[in-house]
Amino acid sequence: MAGQQVAAIFVGRTMADVRISVIVPVYNEEANLALLRQRLTAVLEGLAGPAYEVIFINDGSRDKSIDILHAFAAEDARLRYVNFSRNFGHQIAVWAGLDRARGQAIAIIDADLQDPPEVIADLYARLQQGYEVVYARRRQRQGESWLKKATARAFYRTLASITSVSIPVDTGDFRIVDRRVVEVLRQMKEHNKFIRGQIAWVGFRQTYVEYDRHSRHGGTTGYTYGKMLRFALDGITSFSDFPLKLASYMGFFVAAASFLMGIYALYGRFIRKDYVPGWASLMLVMLFLGGVQLFSLGIIGEYLSRISQDVKNRPLYVVADESPEAAVGPAKQGL
Ligand code: UDP
Ligand code: MG
Repeated sequence: MAGQQVAAIFVGRTMADVRISVIVPVYNEEANLALLRQRLTAVLEGLAGPAYEVIFINDGSRDKSIDILHAFAAEDARLRYVNFSRNFGHQIAVWAGLDRARGQAIAIIDADLQDPPEVIADLYARLQQGYEVVYARRRQRQGESWLKKATARAFYRTLASITSVSIPVDTGDFRIVDRRVVEVLRQMKEHNKFIRGQIAWVGFRQTYVEYDRHSRHGGTTGYTYGKMLRFALDGITSFSDFPLKLASYMGFFVAAASFLMGIYALYGRFIRKDYVPGWASLMLVMLFLGGVQLFSLGIIGEYLSRISQDVKNRPLYVVADESPEAAVGPAKQGL
């Protein structure tokens, strides 16, 4: 409890009233929202009595999700919503929640009930033992294709091996953090958000609780392979310069190899005088060099495009409407 009181110093005005904020990004989740609300509020009432808020971010859903969220907010002022003008992506949706969350503890959870809301109780209990970040680590994942699991696994292992920040493997954004962590996150201005990496970067005392990830309650995944790839590239480019360096390592390696080949060619031409027009080897070298060059350019392009987005400094997201209570929160605008 002591940790919570300290955290309250960072909280101004009426915000101190909120003990737990829960952020829920929503994209085409009409089939899940009613059950989610029921399970979530049951857990939160047990933990915080009335002193909680849930912030749903409707990320341009094409189904009736927003109507359901409007109805929730009308019935209960603790169920806030933010309605984006279009689909901005899961990480940005979570960010809009972080911009508005007023709680001393702030949890992030998916809307599809893959992350059981009841686990928040475990996360919160651990947080109160004096941690600033408690993430939920998947013991197993149900109902997801082997390709998704295999690519996710490969991605987290690769990322772990090339970043200096230790981003925990087998975790999503399902976690609870102390308000202090969110204060720091709000100062991180990059546009390409990789929230789990950013939270790892913040530091403080971090720990985890294990849980079983269920299959979706209803609906289908909003994370296409295209979105996953972009997300993976955001993670890598935000937290590692290794790919940039890889381009120069490869250049170095290829240059050394071509130098040796050059010596060999001269040796064949002038000393052994045994040379044949080597179409195949020439093609090989050309294609290889072309490949390395394009790959290196691509890497540079990936970083450059992100730098250009940061330089443009557009708003992160556009809000069509949101529940009035949200106006009380700090940092109303994205960024
Ligand atoms: N989501 C979102 N915007 C998107 C895609 C997904 O806000 O463009 C939300 C979605 O409603 C869910 C969470 O992000 O609450 C995780 O998405 P999903 O379950 O589709 O991903 P998966 O669990 O399959 O990785
Ligand atoms: Mg899901």
